[in-house]
Amino acid sequence: MKSFIIASNNAHKVSELERILNPLGIKALTAKQAGIDLGDVEETGTTFAENARLKAKAAFERCNMPSIADDSGLTVDALNGAPGVYSARYAGQGASDSDKINKLLSELQGVSEKDRTAAFVCSICCILEDGSMIEVSGKCQGTIAFEPKGEGGFGYDPVFIVDGGVSFAQLSDSDKDKISHRGNALRALKEELLKRLK
Ligand code: IMP
Repeated sequence: MKSFIIASNNAHKVSELERILNPLGIKALTAKQAGIDLGDVEETGTTFAENARLKAKAAFERCNMPSIADDSGLTVDALNGAPGVYSARYAGQGASDSDKINKLLSELQGVSEKDRTAAFVCSICCILEDGSMIEVSGKCQGTIAFEPKGEGGFGYDPVFIVDGGVSFAQLSDSDKDKISHRGNALRALKEELLKRLK
């Protein structure tokens, strides 16, 4: 079985990737599991795709193995695309998910329901053994709620409302996977890998 390095320490992301890669005969390994300290790769890009590429390249070069990295976040139309690539750091380094949600809701104070449109975006970069690159992305459209609802998920899930009026935090993991930005990007990655690994 081939091994790919997943450039993330987020256990949730690694297990989502494992579910996609294992049936293709690929084992997903974190750098740590391969005995390598990747350190923190600075996310200096201005787009999700650029940041995913930076992380995948760092892992490929450090580990000398095929690698996969993703970068994701929330873009809100009424805020000109913010928090965007700064989604993780929107309320400062180390702020909690509820700090980020509170900041987002306060920035949207006075914005009516019809103008609260938003999207989650996920870019994935995969570098194969020969150095060739696969870049894919996925999107999920929604709106931002006036207050959090639901207990599941993470990050901005409680305020991201999808078709049917429920928040991401009110969906089961598998229902979220079916429509989410990351689920869509992973399905695109799977299709590309199937073509390339034939
Ligand atoms: P990164 O891709 O690990 O840099 O994460 C970016 C940030 O975007 C996360 O810290 C979350 O705040 C947010 N985010 C990304 N994907 C999701 C999601 O599926 N639900 C909720 N928040 C998300």
